[in-house]
Amino acid sequence: MVDVRRLVQMALDLWERSEPAAAAQPSAPVVKEVVDAKPLAPQAPAAPAPPLRRPVTPVVPVTKPAAPAAPASLQAHPAANRSILLQGQRVAYLLQRAKRRSIGFVVSEDGLVVRAPRWVTQPGIDEALQEKAGWIVRKIAEMQQRRARSMSASIRWEDGASLPFLGQPLQLVVDSEQRVARSGAVWRVEEEAPGSPSRLYLALPPSAGRTQIRDLVQAWFVQSARQHFLARLAHFAPLLGVHYTSLRLSSAETRWGSAKSDGSIRLNWRLMHYAPAVIDYVVAHELAHLRVMDHSPRFWDTVAEVVPDHRALRQQLKDMPAPPWDRAA
Ligand SMILES: [Zn+2]
Repeated sequence: MVDVRRLVQMALDLWERSEPAAAAQPSAPVVKEVVDAKPLAPQAPAAPAPPLRRPVTPVVPVTKPAAPAAPASLQAHPAANRSILLQGQRVAYLLQRAKRRSIGFVVSEDGLVVRAPRWVTQPGIDEALQEKAGWIVRKIAEMQQRRARSMSASIRWEDGASLPFLGQPLQLVVDSEQRVARSGAVWRVEEEAPGSPSRLYLALPPSAGRTQIRDLVQAWFVQSARQHFLARLAHFAPLLGVHYTSLRLSSAETRWGSAKSDGSIRLNWRLMHYAPAVIDYVVAHELAHLRVMDHSPRFWDTVAEVVPDHRALRQQLKDMPAPPWDRAA
């Protein structure tokens, strides 16, 4: 689904210039591992994480075997149902069949959407994509950069500021009169105003400072992360035929998750900044380690059973650093 509110969209219609610009539619030795040991925010000092009482034990990275040769991937559309190699890069896109007379391309921060009349065959669509490959690859790369910039911007801990939550903007509202939030934080998606960001109402006095705001948002993030991760673990564990024994949340600056052969899983609550598909990739990655502990081709085949576009999602995680929580703003 293309999300209009996210941004500027660029539309290009082939064959038919007169058509209005496309609207958005639609006890054994414990083996440990590390996902993508990459700093979230290189300059940011470690966040205080009051809900986490256990110290983070150092994790020894497993040396990654050489990755099998594969084309580079551009950002996959979260609802992608097709993929194609354009200028040597894998592009996973959403194909929508529509009542229209031409093939339309829309590139948003979500990725590429192709809208085509029902009578155009897949080879016909492929041909149109190849013809516009230069434009498509360039626009997706631009959108990816834009998204990375907005994602990694420092969060302003004040009324009206926004931060990414599940890949979408979330607006902070200091609810001093407690009209929505009697206590703590209440998340509201404004159903009647499609396009507006969801809001997090914070029951705080008007005098609340940035530390107070940040601490309340963090408590809410951690709580949301636990609920979300438990639901996704419950979804993927049976699909992979594995059992995990415990979930612990971390806020480590350098890793998104880890799994141990005793079945314990650790996931970083800051993942909640990312789109659900990206979180699913990390959840599936860790659960897949309960079957295969290394990063061998067999491991990636296991991940692909449940997250076929794992390469593109992993790339998204690498390309978009999560915002730093502690930098003064
Ligand atoms: Zn791993």
